[in-house]
Formats: sequence, C-alpha cells, structure tokens
Amino acid sequence: MEKKNCNRRMALHPQSMCPAFGGLRVLMRIDGVQVCMAADQGCLYGLTFVSHFYAARKSIVSPELMNVQISGGSMIDDLRRTIDEIARDPSVRFIPVVSTCVAETAGIAEELLPRRAGNAEVLLVRLPAFQIRTHPEAKDVAVATLLKRFGSFDQPRRPRSLVVLGEIFPVDAMTIGATLQKIGVESVITLPGSALEDYIEAGQAEACAVLHPFYERTVSLLEEKGVKIVRGNPIGANGTAQWIRRIGEALALDSSSVEAVAGEEAGKARETMAGFSKMRGKVIVAGYEGNELPVVRLLLEAGLDVPYASTSIAQTELGEEDHKVLTMLGTEIRYRKYLEEDMDAVERYSPDLVIGTTSLDSFAKERGIPAIYYTNNISARPLFFAAGAATVLGMISGLLERKEVFRKMKEYFEG
Ligand code: SF4
Repeated sequence: MEKKNCNRRMALHPQSMCPAFGGLRVLMRIDGVQVCMAADQGCLYGLTFVSHFYAARKSIVSPELMNVQISGGSMIDDLRRTIDEIARDPSVRFIPVVSTCVAETAGIAEELLPRRAGNAEVLLVRLPAFQIRTHPEAKDVAVATLLKRFGSFDQPRRPRSLVVLGEIFPVDAMTIGATLQKIGVESVITLPGSALEDYIEAGQAEACAVLHPFYERTVSLLEEKGVKIVRGNPIGANGTAQWIRRIGEALALDSSSVEAVAGEEAGKARETMAGFSKMRGKVIVAGYEGNELPVVRLLLEAGLDVPYASTSIAQTELGEEDHKVLTMLGTEIRYRKYLEEDMDAVERYSPDLVIGTTSLDSFAKERGIPAIYYTNNISARPLFFAAGAATVLGMISGLLERKEVFRKMKEYFEG
C-alpha cells in the first residue's frame, strides 16, 4: 500500500519533453521559415535549446511575453509587431506563429493575426501541452494545420500519386522510393516535408501511406478531402508484403507487378530474419516517440520475447492492427505510460535488454541489465524492409550476446 501511494506521487512528475518541440521540429525544417513564438520566457529558453539541437539549428523569434504583457492585453499587438519585423527580411517565406501553453491560456484570436506579411505566409499553430500531450502528437497538429491551410485539395487528383506520412531515416526514404517506383507509383511526397510546396501538392495526392499511428488529425482531414488512407508500414516480412499490396490496391496499380514486388521484398526480409533464428532473449521496449509498437512487431516476428511495451501516445485507431497482434502474442501494452510503470515492468519481467528512455535505461543499468536509448538507437537507423530488419536485429543480437558484460560491470563497481 505504501509503495502504491509513493508511485502515484512519483507519477505526477513530468514524463516527457515539452510537446511543442514536436511541432517545432516539423515547422522549423521548412525552407524559408522563421518561427514567431508566443511563449513564456522560460519555455522559450528550453524550446530554443532543443530546437537548435534536435530540429534545424535555427533560432526562434518571440515577443516578450510575461505577466505584464498578458494581463495588460498587449499580446496580439506584440505578436503583430514581431511578425512585421520578421517579414522585413525578403527571404522569409513562411512565418508560423507557434502558440504554447501560456499564450493559449491567455487566448490568441486568429482573426487578429495577418495571413500574409511581406513575402511570407503567416499561420497560427496552436500547441498547448494541456491539449496536446506529447511531442509526436504535436507533429500531427503541425502537419494537419499546414495541410488545412495550404493543401490544394480543390485541384484534380494526380493519378498514382502518394503521400508518405511520417518522419523516417533517410535510407528508409530511399528504399521506400525505389520500391514504390517498381510497383508503378508515379509521384511520392514525403511529409513532414522541407518545402511549403510539399504541403500544397499533397492536396492532389490520390492516397496517403501513414507510417506512424499518431497522425490522427492529419488522417481525418485527408479522409474528409477524399484521399485514400493506407495503414501499416513495411516492417518485418509480413508487414512489408501487406503494405506493398495495400498501396497497389489504393492506387489501382498493376496487380501482377505489385504481387511480384510484395513477394520479393517479403522474401528478402524473411531471409534476413532467418539469419537471426538463434537469437533468443526477453526485451522491453519503452520509448516516447509513438512508433514503438511496429518495432515490437519486428522483434516478435524475429522470435524474441517482448513481454512489455509502452509509449507516450494514446491508443489510436491507426495503431489498432499492431495492438491486436501484440496483445495476441502476449505483449502487455501501456499507452500514455508513466516512467514508474516502465520501472515496475523491468522489475516484474527481468528482461535481457531494455530499449527505453534515458531514465528507464539508468534504472535498468543499475540492475545490471543492458539498456539502450530508443530515440538514438531505433529512430537513427533504418527500420523498413530487409535492410531495416538487418540493422535493428543486428544491433539487438550484439547487445544480447554481450549482456554478461553489464552484469560483470555491476559486480565490479559494487565490489
Ligand atoms: S509550459 Fe507548456 S510550452 Fe512551456 S515548456 Fe511546459 S509544456 Fe512546453
């Protein structure tokens, strides 16, 4: 009872980074962008820091927004003045006005902001943490807001054109491009994109392949506009074949070429995975990127035991297939997880390897369990098709083989 109460208190601690970061990552990578941020100075400091390191090495411009400005009612005027100052630079083509917790609590009336300034489009993107709980979901809000404003949905659809939605490793983008070309896809737009034109042209695509389960707002907008949605991703042998077939169906491509490529790619992935058939181990996957469950699917398909997996996002309709497969294969899943739940899982399952957040990894390492950071190790590697399976399983196999080193290290330091 005492332990339960203690955990409940601990669970009140912040569990993830500021959600607005996810939106900034999407927005700051667009060419010709200059973000104007409506944020408290403390938030601004933190978000400038992470944006430099993890987004685009660009600065954020912001009017001063402290109690005086909020209670004095000058926030909108301050923002308009800042937008005008940014727009003096003719090379700026896009000014997203990113509104975070404090500004959203005070309230920003969109109609009081300009839609254009100088050479730039101006767009309000609302990213308060009290509505958008995690950084993956903030990426969805940013993409949906961009598409709603710029998507050319009123133009005729381009036949055999596809939007691929989800941030992926560059090698994966290349493999996806090559495979889609083989089955007859004529144009591919990858979102989140680095040009405003990507968002404009995405409106004319026939279908959208959603690689990550948290793009719910974007998917609902695209569905409303008549764009076909392809669920799933080319991870593991079964997932790869299914994904290729679904794209073929959505774009009405030649079924024999689609079937040939689906069989070929699934065969390559299966062969790669067979190379790891001797690999055994119990792995816990606990990230906060929102794309953890397809990774677990790959590990299960390769014969590993994954008793527990967790993610920061909520359970979504887009992730339902993975949820069913994982649950059927015995993985306990936690959505909107707390660090305390992950720690509890490490103790209950005594895994051979943890692929987790930094705090969970420290917890596991203190117990002599090998642990790696999900974001740096999974998100920074190819994951799709046979090449992805080879890279991810190769890394995991190496770690499982060396797990004794962690135990010896623990003993050495304790000794
Ligand atoms: S108050 Fe809101 S905007 Fe500021 S750092 Fe926290 S979550 Fe982010």
